[in-house]
Amino acid sequence: MTKTIRSIAGLARAGLVRPEERSKLDTVASRYAVAVTPILAAAIEHASDPIALQFLPSPDELITTPEERADPIGDSVHEKLPGLIHRYPDRVLLKPIHACAVYCRFCFRRETVGPGARALRKVELENAYDYIRAHPEIWEVILTGGDPLLMSPARLAEIVGALDSISSVRTIRIHTRVPIVDPDRVDDAMVQALRVKTPVWIAVHTNHARELTAPARASLARLADAGLPLVSQTVLLRGVNDDADVLEELFRSLVECRVKPYYMHNPDLAPGTSRFRLPIARGRSLLRSLRGRLSGLAQPTYVLDLPGGHGKVPVGPDYVGPAAEGTIEDPWGRSHAYPPPPDRD
Ligand SMILES: *Cc1c(COP(=O)(O)O)cnc(C)c1O
Repeated sequence: MTKTIRSIAGLARAGLVRPEERSKLDTVASRYAVAVTPILAAAIEHASDPIALQFLPSPDELITTPEERADPIGDSVHEKLPGLIHRYPDRVLLKPIHACAVYCRFCFRRETVGPGARALRKVELENAYDYIRAHPEIWEVILTGGDPLLMSPARLAEIVGALDSISSVRTIRIHTRVPIVDPDRVDDAMVQALRVKTPVWIAVHTNHARELTAPARASLARLADAGLPLVSQTVLLRGVNDDADVLEELFRSLVECRVKPYYMHNPDLAPGTSRFRLPIARGRSLLRSLRGRLSGLAQPTYVLDLPGGHGKVPVGPDYVGPAAEGTIEDPWGRSHAYPPPPDRD
């Protein structure tokens, strides 16, 4: 296999869908984009393995539940200009393109991303730069989408260069899955496009250690060797990674690849994704079981993005007992007294 598979017929030819599901899957594919890169297609071992579950469409995507919404985290509430989302004072999202190398079946932007969705026009990008210049409190610009690393190195260099020339922008961040799912795109020209005087941080999205193939690790190494700091984001997904051993292996592998686990997201309320969701209590107990057995470098923050555009909040386990008790729990669940500060009155 040398080309990305983008249709149910293509998946059928590769033996990745069951014939009796094809008509339902055609309906799914007409609603939500499908793309599976060769490296992922090759990594799929069976229908319920963690790669298959993340990228192969399922008839369950036709089931929507009442709490699901087209814009699960309220991006549109804060969309100041096409492709520019300003929710927090010090940072904006800029979405130059709406296509991805692969389409995750749990994507929270599944209603807006896809090969048919249009990229920002030159004038729209210029307007976004003007907005950023006019708001010097914007300290960080986060390129996301769509996957920004799907752009050609020349286009990427143009955008990164434009942001680099805005003196109030002190950090650029790029959210991407490309280094993992289409690692050959991270070539010298792309790395060169990211080497500007403003620090460029790369946030890679990955959910299972099986995604970290040898070529994926090599592409992460190219980015790290170029001096680009790397962090990761993972979505907690039922059946994919809701297991302490699986998360431990993923987070350890990331640190070994010089990637600091940053966020573990609770899955958003995107349409047709209920099969992936699990109770917050489950995520808390998984992370609790990793504390005390896994390096602090490998511990992400468990966050949830509130519906309606109200922002991300940490929802991870906490260890502080009720104030009156003055106790703290250790990683193994035993309670210990911790003295309050001396009374100063
Ligand atoms: C997630 C997000 C950010 C980035 O949040 P961090 O906590 O800094 O990673 C910024 N703006 C919007 C609209 C977001 O959804």
